[in-house]
Amino acid sequence: MTATSLQQIFGQESAVTWLRQAYLADRLPHGLIFAGPVGVGKATAARALAKLFLCENPKQDDACGKCESCRVFDAGNHPDYHVITKELIRYHDKTGKSKGIDLSINVLRPEVIEPAGRKAVMGRGKVFAIEQAELMNPQAQNALLKTLEEPAGRTLIVLLTDQPGSLLATIRSRCQTVRFGALDKDRVCKELARRGVDPALAEDAAELSRGSLGIALKWMEDGVVAPARELLGQIDNLFAGTAPDDLPGWFKNAAEAYAQKQLERDDLASKDQATREGLTLYLLLAGEHIRRRMIDEPDPANLESACAAIDALTQAETYLDSNVNTSLVFQQLTVKLEGEVGSKK
Ligand SMILES: [Zn+2]
Repeated sequence: MTATSLQQIFGQESAVTWLRQAYLADRLPHGLIFAGPVGVGKATAARALAKLFLCENPKQDDACGKCESCRVFDAGNHPDYHVITKELIRYHDKTGKSKGIDLSINVLRPEVIEPAGRKAVMGRGKVFAIEQAELMNPQAQNALLKTLEEPAGRTLIVLLTDQPGSLLATIRSRCQTVRFGALDKDRVCKELARRGVDPALAEDAAELSRGSLGIALKWMEDGVVAPARELLGQIDNLFAGTAPDDLPGWFKNAAEAYAQKQLERDDLASKDQATREGLTLYLLLAGEHIRRRMIDEPDPANLESACAAIDALTQAETYLDSNVNTSLVFQQLTVKLEGEVGSKK
């Protein structure tokens, strides 16, 4: 996959301008925090910056695309470009007991701290991009401090996060924070259309993802958009007094389809966990839809049932987290939704 150039990052003019200027002035600090919502271009920008930073023959603030460094970068195996994702938690877990939640020192040491202290393999420098940096536990963050201050040679460490507040103050003070904002829904829609997405699908995806191009693209790839639209339709019907037909069955099928897509991508993924993820995603979408409905709801009785419906959805989410049998969870949810919302009509 060829990296996008910084100039092509969609909708993040101020972040990109800052990065280009810092690069051109040779004032990029060792540590950068890319802070902003999920799916608005932080990872794409980190990749573009890394390619430029490592290029042997950059033209102004553009990687040449032809040198050995650019070539191996685009081939996806640059030895000095290290991307740290939560998938590595499983890889480094010697005990097999990790639930894959914390980016601990067991991951940071071999993936960042040690290689940052060594010379670059290809000579130009090294770049580390730590995705979901908020998953680093305090011990791991503390261990990273020294590396952020004095890595060996020309080095960039980019921490990507939608929760900059969960990074230690000592980490934040050693890094420059670059903010990435949410995107305008209409711009996401236009961009999707520009990429050849069917206009109706683009509209739905932009709406559902609330201004996140990355999420819109992922949900289209995961086949989430059409089922989500269907679910929101069912909810509207429920509020209009029509009981949905077989909501538990609907959730089961939709979540299984979602899990199937995840397994196609990563055959080590757990089917059960992916199914629960799918269920949680649709619960969240349903909850958000009801919240949006409440904004222009003048009737207090409807507001009350909307609140009860949200409670029921939150309850179901909690049960899912605590591994209660999923078909029971959704039978209960349906009973509650129909009781609270349907019966008021
Ligand atoms: Zn190059």
